[in-house]
This record gives sequence, C-alpha cells and structure tokens, in this order.
Amino acid sequence: MDGFTRTLHNGTVLWCARLPGSCSGTLSFGVGFKDEPTTLLGITHLLEHVVLNLVQPVIVAHDAVTTSESVVFTAWGDPDDVAGFLNDVAEAVCRISSISDAVLVAEKLSVEAESPTQYASPTSGLLTYRYGIPGIGSANFGVPGTASLTRQEVIDWSAQWFVSDNAILTFTSPSPETLNVILPPGSPDRATADLASIDTPVLVESAKEGVALSLVVEEGVAEFLAEALWHELIATLRYDLNLIYSVRVITTRVDERSCEIAFVLDPLPRNTARTVRMSIAALRRISRKGFSPATVLAVQKSADLEEADTTTHASFLHAAAIDHLLDRTSVSGIQRLRDAQRATSESLRQALRNHLSTLIVAYDEAEVKRSDLPDRSIIARDQYWPWQQRSAGGGTADVSHLPTWPSRDGKSALSITPTHLVETSSRRPIEIAFADIRLVGITQDNALTLIDHRGRSTTIDESDAVNFETLRHAILERIPTSIIRDFAK
Ligand SMILES: [Zn+2]
Repeated sequence: MDGFTRTLHNGTVLWCARLPGSCSGTLSFGVGFKDEPTTLLGITHLLEHVVLNLVQPVIVAHDAVTTSESVVFTAWGDPDDVAGFLNDVAEAVCRISSISDAVLVAEKLSVEAESPTQYASPTSGLLTYRYGIPGIGSANFGVPGTASLTRQEVIDWSAQWFVSDNAILTFTSPSPETLNVILPPGSPDRATADLASIDTPVLVESAKEGVALSLVVEEGVAEFLAEALWHELIATLRYDLNLIYSVRVITTRVDERSCEIAFVLDPLPRNTARTVRMSIAALRRISRKGFSPATVLAVQKSADLEEADTTTHASFLHAAAIDHLLDRTSVSGIQRLRDAQRATSESLRQALRNHLSTLIVAYDEAEVKRSDLPDRSIIARDQYWPWQQRSAGGGTADVSHLPTWPSRDGKSALSITPTHLVETSSRRPIEIAFADIRLVGITQDNALTLIDHRGRSTTIDESDAVNFETLRHAILERIPTSIIRDFAK
C-alpha cells in the first residue's frame, strides 16, 4: 500500500494514511482465539470486554472486535477524539492488574449474553471439524470454561499479549498531536502450527441448526470466490428450489496462504436433507460448467462499488497493518479489487475446482434421516463423535480382567485401560484414547465432559455407571491436572 507513513510512536508501530472521509483510528493486538490454550479458551474475548469496560464512558463512535488472530479497537470521528479513545485503551491495558472482581463478573455476563449457547456447552464449528483444537479450530469452538477464568489468568494473558511489540496503530489521517498511546513493553511468543488439511469432501453431523458449507481456498481469491458462490447458492437454493431464505458468508484467514470461506444456510428443518443434497450438487455443477454471466457481472460491479467507497480503503490500511503485525504477506486490497473486476466464469470456475476437494458440509443431524443423505460415493461421512470403534490392534483387546462399571440401566459398561476409556455393550466395543483428550470439564452435577483433539465431546455422568464416584476418580487419575477445568457456573 502506497502513500502512507510508518513511524514508531512510544515504541508501537504507527501507520498513517491520508484518506478522504471522516477519520478512523485503530489499535490492534496480534492475539486471538487461535493463540489460546484449550484451558483458557475465550480469554482473549473476555480481556477485550474488560478493557472496553475500563474505558467507559466513551463519547466517540467506537468498537472492539476479537477474531481468530487479532483484537482491534476502533474509533471514528474527530481525530483528537479518536486519539483520546486509543490513549484510554492503552491506559486501561496498563492498569489491568487492578481490575475488580465485579468488572470480571460483569464482563463474563456480557460475553454470555452475546452468545449464550457457546457459553453453556461445548459447541464445534466448521473450523473445529477441520483443524481440531487448540489453534485455528478454536475460532468457532465454544466452551463453558470462560465462566471459571480467573482474574489472575486474565491479567497474565494481557501481560503476555497486549504489549507494545504486539500492537500496531493506524490512522486514516495524519496522527493528531494528542495521540499518546503508551503500552507495557514486551514481545509476543507466537507459535505457528502445521495444519493437517482435509482433502476429500466430507459430510459432518452437527448439533447446530441448518446446513453449512466450508472450503479452504487461496487467500487472494477468497473474497470474490465467496461472493460469486453466494450469488449462485441464492439463485439455486432460494429462487430455483425454494429451500432457504439466506446464505451467510464468513471468511477466516487460516494461515499465510489460505482462507476458509463458510456459507451458513437456513432451510426449514424438514428441508435439511434436501438442502444438503442440492447444495453439493450445485457446487459440483458450477465446478464443471462455470458461473453464470449474472454472477460474474455482479462480482465485477461489486468490486467497482467497493473501489468507490472510502471505508474500503480504510479497511485495506487496517488489513495491511494486521499482516505486518503477524509478519506475513497477503494479496493487497487494491489487487484483489482488480482481480475481481477482471473475473470471468472460467477464472472463478478454476478457483472453485482447485479447492472443491476441501469441502466440508455440516448438517443438523436431528433433522435428517441418514437414508436421505447423498450417497457415500459422492461424499464421505463423519459421525464426529469422540467414541471410536475399538481397534483390534489396540493392544488390550480383552478388557474382561479390567475394572468395570456397569451402567445404571444395565445395558452397557465402562472399563478403563491404562490408555483408553472403553465402553462394552452388546455390539462392538467403542473407546476414547486418553492421549486424545485436550480438555476435561467438571460440570455442576459433578459429571465429566471430555473434549478431544478434534473438538468432539461427550459427558460421563451418574447414569453411565453404578459407583460413578470411583469411575470419575479413575478417569481423572489418567488426565493431566493442567487440562482439567471447572465447567460449573
Ligand atoms: Zn464481545
């Protein structure tokens, strides 16, 4: 990006542009859901809320957003007001160690109010299915542990990440004299993970309503391919087939080279299975025959409109700053617009074709008869359940000599080997490997919620075992205490 100045302001990088329109300024930190260990999931978002609480009251238009990779505080308006807000945010970060328990409790409530279901029980999204936890899969994983995060954990998290070397300031105007952002010194220690990718389309059972599609594509094409697919899915599923009302698009940067594009569809429950079949058929058809002339024109015109919009250029400045902060390269915003303006049916088709193998389709399993789903030759299936068929080669195939807890209804029993929790019922035994467990939550009624490396969860409670207390004890003995959290509110 040209035409802007880069300086250091009190040890923090500051980028200023001269853009038309009202001034906006941001203070961003390079930390998000993907940096959180499983025991601290949700802590970045909670910290963002606490900081915003500490700067109240605020008179200038402002916002704070936590994503998978960043926390961004933004204000719009008079440059001095914008600077004042950012000064206050930094000042609040500096006195975070003095936060009261009352503020922490209040902000846990507001995080809960923002997304009650995520707060109440483990919930997995498409990124969790694809990448597991911790890491980028945490971006749409909800876990009840937020309620038990401590004051000290929030303070330590801030000290680790809300520091001058992990922050960047942007202004869409020259920075005002009144800007005086002072952050605690420090450098982040960011781990980069190697991501295992899915390269065969897969159909996944979900506890969420409706149907959702996910593709992982090159970051440079993500935005306009997502827009083109939005037009095609609306045309087919809404207007031709009358199956849905809306298609919600969510784009998430996954790593240096790629983005996830996700589409959330909203069929009536009775139309869920048909929506699964027809959305897969639509993607396959488009990858063979190309995008419609109307879609190509819509993508081009939308890029023209964006180019004319002043807020677009502010968002380019901001996105470039995040790239700088995270030490990575991206296709520039202007280049993206040029590519979209030149898009053709064939260029879009190629972009889809190259990435169709990464397709994940999630559907509300409560509303679907398995026989109504597409044939396994079209798409593989994943039950997404932590219990796996017990492998014969597991070493301890015979569990008869091991301690065993019959269930209360007498229909099954649980056994424990040194490495596995095993359920023996009349059918083939199933098991969970302790080594795969990433988080154990102790719930209000003393049950255990086990969450594995793919974000799959199950709860073991009193109904699962006579003498449940001894089983509970035996399981906890095999789990490192560092991954046990309190899920009771
Ligand atoms: Zn929030």
